[in-house]
Amino acid sequence: MTGLKKTIIRGGLETLYFSAAHHFMRPFVAGVGAILTLHHVRPPRLDRFQPNRLLEVTPSFLEDVVRWLRRSTLDLISLDEMYRRFAEGLVFEGGRRFVCITIDDGYRDTLEWAYPILKKHQVPFTVYIPTSFPDRLGELWWLALEAVIARNTRIRLLIGDTEQGFNCATVAEKRHLFEELYGWLRSLATEEELRHVIRDLAARYHVDIAAFCEELCMDWDELTKLADDPLVTIGAHTVNHVMLAKVPEKSARSEMQMSRAVIEAALGVRPEHLSYPVGDPTSAGPREFRIAAELGFKTGVTTRPGVLFPEHREHLLALPRVSLNGEHQQLRYVRVLMSGAATALWNGFRRVDAA
Ligand SMILES: [Zn+2]
Repeated sequence: MTGLKKTIIRGGLETLYFSAAHHFMRPFVAGVGAILTLHHVRPPRLDRFQPNRLLEVTPSFLEDVVRWLRRSTLDLISLDEMYRRFAEGLVFEGGRRFVCITIDDGYRDTLEWAYPILKKHQVPFTVYIPTSFPDRLGELWWLALEAVIARNTRIRLLIGDTEQGFNCATVAEKRHLFEELYGWLRSLATEEELRHVIRDLAARYHVDIAAFCEELCMDWDELTKLADDPLVTIGAHTVNHVMLAKVPEKSARSEMQMSRAVIEAALGVRPEHLSYPVGDPTSAGPREFRIAAELGFKTGVTTRPGVLFPEHREHLLALPRVSLNGEHQQLRYVRVLMSGAATALWNGFRRVDAA
């Protein structure tokens, strides 16, 4: 994210907080609950080039958020309980609002840092696992891109049919180049093209993509420890962490189906909840929501920003979430996000976005 974009988002959250606008808007935009998204929870690192930092929060920030939620009037519930409330029609405006905590990708820091905090406060949570990560075959391509740029002062890669060179000697150049290449990769029409570019870059610059799984992700033994705790729900997150809308329908279906089968075989629990990798509208849309419903998943979460309204009862396979962003680790921002005010502005006050 560019410095400017970060400043604008932060400015918006600050304005909403200090103007108390979120307070006045709350009765109209707060909805019935929210699903929070986390990725990494770990102590801060000092590196100046951390383009993926938005995906991590510190343990103390998580603890602050949990303490605040525990003091609030919000119920902290599991996805099964959320599903029950929707299915039995117990969600209505003016009723008790709830929060579900979800953690994507199954990083080892979930077990090491997030779990002890959530356990201490008896908070139920869901961990979504792309099964190729514990199988040690996953490609955490965004980290491979970061590593290539971090370790080199100049890189060359094929864009279309032409080989191009880029400088990345300074921290500013590295940040800029990451942003450019990340945006370009995400704009490619197919997942295959993206993986092709990353594999080529990793091979040229001697970055071992598979090593990130070993280093950062839980293995099946570690996942078993988590799964044994009744506080924990294990959800599916495909096999290869692919942007499902960018693969053929057959592959999208088997990615969802296989991940559930592999988790069930390894952990003895059948996942009933799904998180679409990347999860924005270019990665998960109506086709994916339909397939997930056909496969019998109870809920599917996206990364489209938003809180939950009673209308989501008809769209349980296309749920929005509220991300705890590592660039904005302030409790007051979480209050604004939970009020629904920020995401209401973002969504133009449209409550459901399942298109
Ligand atoms: Zn993910």
